[in-house]
Amino acid sequence: MLSLPLSAPAGQPLSVLAIGAHPDDIEIGAGGLLLGLAESRLRARYVVLTGTQERQQEARNAAQSFLPGADLTVEFFGLPEGRLPGVWVSVKEILEDVARSYTPDVIIAPSSADAHQDHRTIGEIVPTVFRDQLYLAYEIPKWDGDMGRPSVYVPVPAHLMQLKLELLHKCFPSQRGRDWWDDEVFLGLARLRGMECRARYAEAFTCSKSVIVPAAAARPGGGGDLP
Ligand SMILES: [Zn+2]
Repeated sequence: MLSLPLSAPAGQPLSVLAIGAHPDDIEIGAGGLLLGLAESRLRARYVVLTGTQERQQEARNAAQSFLPGADLTVEFFGLPEGRLPGVWVSVKEILEDVARSYTPDVIIAPSSADAHQDHRTIGEIVPTVFRDQLYLAYEIPKWDGDMGRPSVYVPVPAHLMQLKLELLHKCFPSQRGRDWWDDEVFLGLARLRGMECRARYAEAFTCSKSVIVPAAAARPGGGGDLP
């Protein structure tokens, strides 16, 4: 197990693209990571593909709460919830539009192995649109029981994990009545993923492809751009 720093390009803030099928996906899957990233200079674009007006407003508040101080853009697209496979072309076109105007360093999005059809559709399309970014696919606990075998772990300090829980409850009042929406689910998964990476709490992601560049080769003139 080797820890790799997630560092910004020289002189630039790290830029992140966070994609969710539904309001609350991004924060459940990667809220701790976002809170940690927001402690440094950060440029972020939030793209949420479905959601009623009420839930979109919740997500807008959540984006600002989880990314305080970030240079933040939030976009909603109102596609039909539970039907993203049926509007596959629209999802692809939306993500292609985003890619034309924004080149993030890191993409945080659902996984192609997710059992929810909306999450899975996004996870299948992301790598067809974005080729040159670090794509971290987050996990969402759910009835389907699709927890997989993650490949990337982000330890989350206890105070940020606590803040994540508080913000989830505060930012998404419409979801509090769901039988799975509770601290034990969120904290239990974080503790399990923490145990797997020798931390107290962690969020886990899948990265299906990464390129390792030795530091010397990454420096200007160091041969890092060789084909
Ligand atoms: Zn979702």
